[in-house]
Amino acid sequence: MTRQTPFISILLMLLMPSLVLGNWHKGGAAIMGTRISVEIWHEDNTTAKHAIEAVLDEFRRIDRALSPYIEESELFRVNRDADKQRTSISQEFFDLLERSLAYSQLTDGAFDITFASIGYHYDFRKGIRPSEDVIGNALPLINYRLIRLDTDSRTVAFAQEGVRIDLGGIAKGYAVDRGIGILQRLGIEHALISAGGDSRLLGDHRGRPWHIGIQAPRNKEALAAVLPLSETAVSTSGDYERFFERDGVRHHHIISPKTGRSAGELRSVTILGPNTTHTDALSTSVFVLGLKEGLALINRLDDVEAVIIDNQGKMHMSKGMEDLRPSSAEN
Ligand code: ADP
Ligand code: MG
Repeated sequence: MTRQTPFISILLMLLMPSLVLGNWHKGGAAIMGTRISVEIWHEDNTTAKHAIEAVLDEFRRIDRALSPYIEESELFRVNRDADKQRTSISQEFFDLLERSLAYSQLTDGAFDITFASIGYHYDFRKGIRPSEDVIGNALPLINYRLIRLDTDSRTVAFAQEGVRIDLGGIAKGYAVDRGIGILQRLGIEHALISAGGDSRLLGDHRGRPWHIGIQAPRNKEALAAVLPLSETAVSTSGDYERFFERDGVRHHHIISPKTGRSAGELRSVTILGPNTTHTDALSTSVFVLGLKEGLALINRLDDVEAVIIDNQGKMHMSKGMEDLRPSSAEN
């Protein structure tokens, strides 16, 4: 081995110029109820810092607009008013509602932002869930067709009293895409933005792929798989993020619009695709659809792939994943 050392030093010296020209920069913050992290490659420290701050500011802006908890948010105002009167909204909010409705149509109602008509009765931290009565009464209010958008007046109205919406199934993916847009405009070519289960990779990791882990749903310390990826978006929805157990039933944050209860067929769904708005909405959708219908949907769409872990811990993949076959461990 020692005989090789001079060769390695020469090689390192040859590589030096490119090494000192750039650096990886990292930043993060807790926003939208999750950990946001930004990693970029850039030559200049000041520009890199500015870029990371700009991305985090964009997350803060989106959180202020879409949070169901912030009384000044646009979403809060819509939930308060739109079941009583047509409510004016921003173009950005209107566009997000339109996109959400498009996913409802695509998934035959599995993705439905009116899940919140029941969803807001849950408090996962406190272990609170809606009573059978509340579920029974509110179930007819989970129906995306009750959302009436009017393009000319840029307004939204809910066709029944008590309808509520929540963009938690798409907002983080949207925010990651907005962040990537900011980095692209700044000329950055290698970056990772992740927001909890939603990540998007800009370029590769400088000549190598990024390695993105899929969490093992029943073991916090372990990964179920590691995927080598570049220039792609990846979202995971799991039943282990926000949940509590009661009488042997796991109550978690992904709600089946058909039953008004947590979707129980899968433990996690990972979707790979071109952007995080798409992969975020689809990971939630496939989680609700279950294995058979979920895989059928992903195999029908030509821009996405899926890795699914069922409630026995068994891993399933969409057709196009065959050549990417992840290294598997504990599920
Ligand atoms: P997270 O990254 O927040 O764990 P997911 O992408 O798995 O998110 O989405 C879960 C979130 O989606 C829930 O917290 C809730 O806000 C929202 N949601 C739950 N059920 C549905 C549904 N059927 N359709 C659309 N959104 C949903
Ligand atoms: Mg999602």
